Amino acid sequence: MQIPFNKPCLTGKELDYIKDAVSRGKLSGNGHFTQKCQEFFQGQYGFKKCLLTTSCTDALEMAAILCNIQPGDEVLVPSYTFVSTANAFVLRGAKIVFVDSREDFPGIDERKIESLITPRTRVIVPVHYAGVACDMDVIMDIAKRHDLLVVEDAAQAVNSYYKGRPLGGIGHFACFSFHETKNIQCGEGGMIVINDERFCKRAEIIWEKGTNRAEFFRGEVSKYVWVDIGSSYLPSEVTAAFLWAQIEHLGELQERRKLIWNLYFEGLKPLEDKGYFTLPKHPDYATNNAHAFYLVCNSPEERTKLIAHLKQQGVLAVFHYLGLHNSTYYVEKHDGRSLPNCDRYAGCLVRLPLYYALSLEEVMKIIDFIK
Ligand SMILES: *Cc1c(COP(=O)(O)O)cnc(C)c1O
Repeated sequence: MQIPFNKPCLTGKELDYIKDAVSRGKLSGNGHFTQKCQEFFQGQYGFKKCLLTTSCTDALEMAAILCNIQPGDEVLVPSYTFVSTANAFVLRGAKIVFVDSREDFPGIDERKIESLITPRTRVIVPVHYAGVACDMDVIMDIAKRHDLLVVEDAAQAVNSYYKGRPLGGIGHFACFSFHETKNIQCGEGGMIVINDERFCKRAEIIWEKGTNRAEFFRGEVSKYVWVDIGSSYLPSEVTAAFLWAQIEHLGELQERRKLIWNLYFEGLKPLEDKGYFTLPKHPDYATNNAHAFYLVCNSPEERTKLIAHLKQQGVLAVFHYLGLHNSTYYVEKHDGRSLPNCDRYAGCLVRLPLYYALSLEEVMKIIDFIK
């Protein structure tokens, strides 16, 4: 038996919609399918303005430009996250101030944020780890009192909620990923959400290489010109057409992931009760979009053994982030504070296979192997 960690899912209509896009004779960005996708997110979740991007990384880079980050500005980022969360701001000259994870959850420890704020701090970037919300009321309150902007890294958080509010709709900006490892995907893809009206116009310009082409398309100006900095952040219509096929099945994909997630949880709970490892704990204010199923081993040695054991049975379980404050690129730039919770998740967390086509029998087998 071979069970990969992830298998990208096709819902059936992807190629039909790509054909449709081709037959429309306009394959560059901001066409029919791009607008359908953007309108879906605006309508379904009440996001103010959505722009598809070629990746979540690009969406984060756009957010960093929109935050007007200048060299030396400080940005608060959890260390337990993907490279791009920090790198997007480093590209603009920011200094990253890493925040530890919570003791009970890999997400940012909201209580540790405020003491790290200095006169140079500009932005807080909460990451909704595994699609589970950070305590956004606390974070937005800190941001308001210190006049900071908030960029939600919602890469894993599609269709997930905080106190009934959709993630991605709370911060000034939010960035989603449609990479093939995420709940809905188009190979490589992403989206920036702009929730604050003040930034909507500039976002469109940065998106279109620093030009006002989007306005030109709508007939609002007679020619388009270079008006600001920007880059090529739009995906082609091929990508958007693929993504539309996934969006149409979002509900079904989510149900399946939750079923698998719950099966893992029920099956492994008795082992957690005996103290072999800990399972994810979700705060009351957060929903679970079943982006990832993970367990936290009692030591890095036990994790290594568990991964090796599963591999021997043909099951690919994987660890996750290494902690950006310890990374080759940033370790010398980090201010030296130790981040013990981040280190523990970096050393002990392991993710189990979770994808649409994973059968319930396979899940039961994986549980048995772990037992
Ligand atoms: C996947 C991911 C990203 C990067 O997404 P891309 O679309 O691959 O650029 C950024 N942040 C987090 C938390 C992620 O999980």
